[in-house]
Amino acid sequence: MFDLKDLYQEVIIDHNRSPRNFGKLENPTQVAEGYNPLCGDKLNLYLTTKDDVITDVSFDGSGCAISVASASLMTDSLKGKTIKEAEQLFENFHDLIMKEENPDEEHMQALGKLAALAGVKEYPARVKCATLCWHTLHSALQGDKCSATTE
Ligand code: ZN
Repeated sequence: MFDLKDLYQEVIIDHNRSPRNFGKLENPTQVAEGYNPLCGDKLNLYLTTKDDVITDVSFDGSGCAISVASASLMTDSLKGKTIKEAEQLFENFHDLIMKEENPDEEHMQALGKLAALAGVKEYPARVKCATLCWHTLHSALQGDKCSATTE
């Protein structure tokens, strides 16, 4: 398990240093902003969806390493997914970092690189940093004009 944790750490550091999909989209169909007052993380999410498929997604903003890495990993995982699949992924991810017991193999595989954030569970104060982008995604998909917060 130790090696696995090391690997996860590397994924987070890498995504924090060079976040994927960082910047605005040209013509997003959905936008939402998220704010985590506990940590001061702010992010804007830009989405392009067509026929219920997320064709493009990006984000910008500023926040701690966990919030940036999480948004980077999330946007990387969302492209080409249907909205339903995206919501399912959110549920899986939420279980991963909120539930006591360790997820099974199948569950981890479905999460792919997102599993790198599993260690956040041990730091309750950081859980909101990791879920901020997902809450923002949720409000973007709901077409919710108001901002998402983790509160
Ligand atoms: Zn944070």
